[in-house]
Amino acid sequence: MDTRGGTGELYGSMGISNEVYEYGKIVLEGLKERFEQIDDVAEYNQLKVLRAMQKNQVSEACLLGTTGYGYNDLGRDTLEAVYADVFHAEDALVRPQITCGTHALALALMSNLRPGDELFSPVGKPYDTLEEVIGIRPSRGSLAEYGVTYRQVDLLENGDFDYENIKKSLCSRTRLVTIQRSKGYQTRPTLSVERIGELIAFIKKIKPDVICMVDNCYGEFVEEREPIDAGADMVVGSLIKNPGGGLAPIGGYIVGAKECVENAAYRLTSPGLGREVGASLGILKDFYQGLFLAPTVTASALKGAVFAARLYENLGYQVAPDGSESRHDIIQAVTFGQPEGVINFCRGIQSAAPVDSHVTPQPWDMPGYDAQVIMAAGAFVSGSSIELSADGPVKPPYTVYFQGGLTWQHAKFGILKSLQSLMDAGLIDKEALRKAGHGVKCRKTSK
Ligand SMILES: *Cc1c(COP(=O)(O)O)cnc(C)c1O
Repeated sequence: MDTRGGTGELYGSMGISNEVYEYGKIVLEGLKERFEQIDDVAEYNQLKVLRAMQKNQVSEACLLGTTGYGYNDLGRDTLEAVYADVFHAEDALVRPQITCGTHALALALMSNLRPGDELFSPVGKPYDTLEEVIGIRPSRGSLAEYGVTYRQVDLLENGDFDYENIKKSLCSRTRLVTIQRSKGYQTRPTLSVERIGELIAFIKKIKPDVICMVDNCYGEFVEEREPIDAGADMVVGSLIKNPGGGLAPIGGYIVGAKECVENAAYRLTSPGLGREVGASLGILKDFYQGLFLAPTVTASALKGAVFAARLYENLGYQVAPDGSESRHDIIQAVTFGQPEGVINFCRGIQSAAPVDSHVTPQPWDMPGYDAQVIMAAGAFVSGSSIELSADGPVKPPYTVYFQGGLTWQHAKFGILKSLQSLMDAGLIDKEALRKAGHGVKCRKTSK
């Protein structure tokens, strides 16, 4: 059946040339099995979320909110019980008063560390914004100002854990170990839940009482298991990434051992008050519905990431992860080797957005960065990166980081738009596209 005429014609009217459309189709044909695996994980996680909602008897009353102090907020307390069950944790803190992922992580750290304690990262440098929380970069109110020291051991060249130096670094003052699941905007590989489990087991054998915390940002619902299943004591993330399902307009979560979560609650509000206060206002319906949608939304983002990887690797660009590797987060990196690549990729993503598609992103001097940065985001929730978004520093090796997509169909359109934008700018020609498509077909028939 010729689809150009229906869907294809619509693509055409929205700026996708016939060549790009056809190339996308060829790439997609090779991804059927991959997509089935992603759907299988989504099915498992959908049931996991649904079971937790049913078990905790989420009711219509839970969707309403409280104001003022927020005492006896049924919906808030039930949602926290649901999160605890979904993540197989003893307890959970899920609040709109946790403003973002960095805040959730800072809260988890500051509430569970005391002066004289040491924080340890066995997986190298943490996410940029945590450098100021920890005080790696001197900063007002950092852990360093409160007398909490920090130590880190980098991954080995090949991405393995440096067990020897990890062992040496664990000392009597080591109170908390922070493990970042996602590579974030670095070049190291993302850690699977399985590898996180191996690392935690090694550390606990040496120092059983240490708190192992996982920064789970971008990792939720990508696998069937979550870090608690692998032995983590505390897991932290943002609701404007995967678990908010695109609907949560703000928020963060901390799940884990009761002791850790209680500490966080008393720090979030106040000693003596803890989790008993914190009105949910009118936000709970979006938290519940977002969590309900999160497994399939994450699957859509993953399909987009895999599709982008295949699309660009066939054209000879370096991609990480590649189109065949197993996935442990939703971030996709593509390296263009020239500034116009990053810029036009982002402009293509922007032009595919449901909001602000008419604006043209420009590189700018973002505070805290040593090079200009370009960002594409046309999101319903400002800054949400479970929605289709892309960004990259305009410096060698000119890598763009891409993530999100509330629906697979939108992610696909955005990626095709990025390719179209690169073609319209003259960075890729029709011949290259034809060859890449031909290459995919040959590989398929030869296997
Ligand atoms: C996004 C992210 C954070 C910080 O979250 P914000 O909501 O941007 O503050 C921390 N760690 C990782 C790995 C992230 O991806």
